[in-house]
Amino acid sequence: MTSSDKLDVVIIGGSVGGLACAHALLKTKSCKVTVFERAKAISAAGAGLGLGDEALEVLRSFGLSKELEAVTQPMPIETNRAVAPDGHVRQLYHDRAYNHCRQAYIPALHAILHWSELHRALLSALPQDIILWGTAVTNVEQESGSKYVVQAEAKQTGSGSDSNSDGVQRINVECDLVIAADGSMSDTRRRFRPDESRRYSGYCAWRGVVTDKEAPSAARAVREAYPELGRALYFDLAQDSHAVLYELPGQRLNWLWYINQPEPNLTGHSVTVKADDQKIEDMHERAAATFTPELAALMQATEAPFINAIYDREPLKQWVFGSIVLVGEAAHPTTPHALRSTNMAICDAGALGRCLAEHPKDLHTALDKFQQQRIACTAREVLFSRHLGRLKQSLDSAHDWFAADEDLCQSLGQANMADFSI
Ligand SMILES: Cc1cc2nc3c(=O)[nH]c(=O)nc-3n(C[C@H](O)[C@H](O)[C@H](O)COP(=O)(O)OP(=O)(O)OC[C@H]3O[C@@H](n4cnc5c(N)ncnc54)[C@H](O)[C@@H]3O)c2cc1C
Repeated sequence: MTSSDKLDVVIIGGSVGGLACAHALLKTKSCKVTVFERAKAISAAGAGLGLGDEALEVLRSFGLSKELEAVTQPMPIETNRAVAPDGHVRQLYHDRAYNHCRQAYIPALHAILHWSELHRALLSALPQDIILWGTAVTNVEQESGSKYVVQAEAKQTGSGSDSNSDGVQRINVECDLVIAADGSMSDTRRRFRPDESRRYSGYCAWRGVVTDKEAPSAARAVREAYPELGRALYFDLAQDSHAVLYELPGQRLNWLWYINQPEPNLTGHSVTVKADDQKIEDMHERAAATFTPELAALMQATEAPFINAIYDREPLKQWVFGSIVLVGEAAHPTTPHALRSTNMAICDAGALGRCLAEHPKDLHTALDKFQQQRIACTAREVLFSRHLGRLKQSLDSAHDWFAADEDLCQSLGQANMADFSI
């Protein structure tokens, strides 16, 4: 699988970060790309996320403007409120100019969309034969010289593969560059930073998406109580807890509820915790005692809500190890409060593509420039998001949001992101 005129690139992980890198590298016209994805097929999983102007610009440069227009909704307003179960509400921070770029790191315009629709848009515009689904990378070895061999295991057959009696195909691919887009539990990152561990945030998030059709009366009531839905991100702050509510295209209401709790016992590669009937019932009861009656009723009307344990990691000072480079969640796992994780992964891809295009004959300079451009700004975003989560969950000091002073109210805004430095 080597070609003399092009850089042979293997991407580990075919999620948003990996597929965005595939687009960016193919755009340079100087790369031949193979993507290994452990999952057997594209997933319909996930829920809502926000994209800022910079990430949208990168996606448009991949020729995805039309696809994005069909699945995104502009979200110009951020509003933070203190809420109580008797329906009492106090406005704490309301930013109508959220869509204006006042600081270098603030997205100029948030567009809201469903994770799986973004993933599908990226996938559908790529040559399908470059992605090997159901193929897990098991090892990366440096050969003599500058070449690497990526070893993977799959059920299906493919070129360069060895079939074994256990039915598993063992695939070896030689390449010049390995892009590790293998997520927050990245095996590649662990290989270079074996002693480092992820940091449990102190809370988990219940999440759900509910359509007006599925829950007409709950949706109607919530739209009356939250009149800026469709244009605003609502952050409802309660004691030691907060919820996020916004609308996705297609009359879908997306909510998250962060709850402080001990770290759950996770197995495998997923950060999703199984929500059994008892857990769901307890959540319904607690929602009614925490949030506005309308939001609690929406949570109660949601079919199949799920729980994500929330983690991040300390920012790394190095993402490039020889010709292996970490991108996306593998490079900078983050908590979700600044709506930056998918943005950062897409912006990584855009920057990597630009650096490779600028230095087509000098891979190491390109990779060096890439990490110089991306490490400091992503570290700021990870630390800002961590700070915002701890503030809204009252993890460092207890807050009575109904009595919050002006400084505390102002500190809730996402526009504070640029004040962070490392
Ligand atoms: C199914 C799914 C649903 C999500 N839903 C949401 C959402 O609703 N809202 C939101 O804000 N974010 C969501 N995210 C996460 C978020 O979108 C990520 O920040 C974004 O996808 C960019 O991360 P990434 O591509 O770097 O890593 P990830 O999205 O974590 O993807 C890593 C990929 O690498 C693959 N992989 C890992 N190890 C190997 C290996 N050894 N060999 C081959 N493949 C490997 C994994 O299967 C996975 O597909 C979701 C992620 C996934 C995978």
